[in-house]
Amino acid sequence: TKYVFITGGVMSGIGKGIVSASTGLLLKSRGYRVGIVKVDPYLNVDAGTMNPYAHGEVYVTEDGGETDLDLGHYERFLGENLSKKHNITTGQVYYNVIMKERKGEYLGKTVQIIPHITDEIKQRLSSVARETGVDVLVVEIGGTVGDIEGLPFLEAARQMYVELGSNNVAFVHVAWAPVLSTTGEQKTKPVQHSVYELRRIGIQPNMVVVRSPRPLEAESRQKIALFSNLSPSDVISDHDVDYVYEVPLLLESQGYAARLLSRLGLQDREPDLEAW
Ligand code: ADP
Repeated sequence: TKYVFITGGVMSGIGKGIVSASTGLLLKSRGYRVGIVKVDPYLNVDAGTMNPYAHGEVYVTEDGGETDLDLGHYERFLGENLSKKHNITTGQVYYNVIMKERKGEYLGKTVQIIPHITDEIKQRLSSVARETGVDVLVVEIGGTVGDIEGLPFLEAARQMYVELGSNNVAFVHVAWAPVLSTTGEQKTKPVQHSVYELRRIGIQPNMVVVRSPRPLEAESRQKIALFSNLSPSDVISDHDVDYVYEVPLLLESQGYAARLLSRLGLQDREPDLEAW
């Protein structure tokens, strides 16, 4: 299994879930078997107890899992049912580690975030991949790069890149480029800073997807590419569109999936997006 980690920069709620769902769809449309996992850094064990006014709908999976609403995007885009295993929270990870500690499974060791929490995260991801038999597992890491809560998940992803190799793990970073209302300028600095933050913890993104009210300008693309150590074709515009169902086509038109597949050493194929 290959893994695609989707991280978010600048702020939450910009459209990382839609990018994750679109990534899944574009790979699936090429005949690959794809799963999508949402990782939520909060301490709630599941979304069932969370206020829908603050957090949006609780999405209930076929097997009764009470999950994050992003699972709904994934199922609608992929046209497949997912299970409660596709939503991993910090609460679940700590709960398991603490239960194991009480049973004495760590044989007297000091139980720590690294390696015990990070190992638990890696095991959960690889068990979803194994049990579902997918070619590619897309993993959306909730929250924003720089959040304290998200660090163990990013560290686990970094370790997976080292352990599985650069052909098996790719990083897509989704960040926000604002447009100033006074001058109408598109600003790339917040994107640059979120990429620096990611690199600071040892992750070099392979692609940067830029959410912005307006299409990414050529100059913005150049700047983001230069400061992210990427080629301009690895910087993708995900500007505001009228319907989110247009996002996969918008990404596809810029060669997003083809670049990602080549990064993962997978063959590109003619996508079947007819039904879409
Ligand atoms: P996140 O996962 O970053 O919190 P979501 O993917 O849930 O964000 O998207 C947040 C909101 O933005 C949703 O209402 C979604 O429909 C909308 N959205 C996402 N991408 C776009 C886009 N390219 N154009 C317009 N709206 C978008």
